[in-house]
Amino acid sequence: MASTTCPLCKSPVSNLLKISSGMKVALESTGQASSLPPEVCDSCYDSLTGQVSKGVKLRVEEEAKAKNKVMLWKNRVNLVKQGRQLMAQRAFTEAAVSYQKYIKVLEIVYDLKPGQLSPKIFSNSSKSKELTVITTVYWDLLRIYDTSPRYHKKMDGVAKKLLEFGAFCPIFPDIVRKADSFSRKAKNKDAMKRFLKQTNFKRGCFVATSAFDSYLAPEVIFLREFRDQKLLPTFTGRVIIRVYYAISPVIASFMNANKSIKPIVRMILQQIIKNLKKIS
Ligand SMILES: [Zn+2]
Repeated sequence: MASTTCPLCKSPVSNLLKISSGMKVALESTGQASSLPPEVCDSCYDSLTGQVSKGVKLRVEEEAKAKNKVMLWKNRVNLVKQGRQLMAQRAFTEAAVSYQKYIKVLEIVYDLKPGQLSPKIFSNSSKSKELTVITTVYWDLLRIYDTSPRYHKKMDGVAKKLLEFGAFCPIFPDIVRKADSFSRKAKNKDAMKRFLKQTNFKRGCFVATSAFDSYLAPEVIFLREFRDQKLLPTFTGRVIIRVYYAISPVIASFMNANKSIKPIVRMILQQIIKNLKKIS
């Protein structure tokens, strides 16, 4: 279906291709760039760029892609802000669209297939703050999808991601507590219950994560491995984990609110780790 006209050859076409600034530079080198329209049809694009070498073409396309990624990455903050504002206005559908766009941007920037966003990508400490943003986005999406029973499947998908990212996020204990009270008035009670049940054993070491302000601190990693390898396989170990998880969210939120006690907790934990290393 012809819906527009190529400004160069004037033939009716269905869509036009943008001539990127990089391609313009490449065309200048072949003497064709004078008075080019910003967009042309497929065949004009082919004949124009036919004289540009393959290598240059590839490089130009890569550059345009990289530029686009930088722009998207910068814009992602606005998408989250917009999502939060819409959420506050109870414009849930629109908020979900903003949040989904944000996730899409991350997928594009990191060359991922849909749904493949993983915390590992952000393990680099300069990017670890993004983990908290992503966690809050999934938490909002979970509540948005709770507005209709139709969305229970979407809720399970979001819950899975929330668990995956939440384990890396210092505010996850707060989210679990909020989810607990939210579940009482939830529309999709079963989906919320499934989520909360899964938080039982998959939670991070809340106290340690809060004390070291990072899920990725070597101390936190050690404690996590100790839990999975030494405690989880035994009955007594599982009892210890249950008790720890019952009390640790309260301690962790207290520590997040009273940051001055963190150095002391760090010292205590380091001593405990030293002793654990001796016996294991
Ligand atoms: Zn044309």
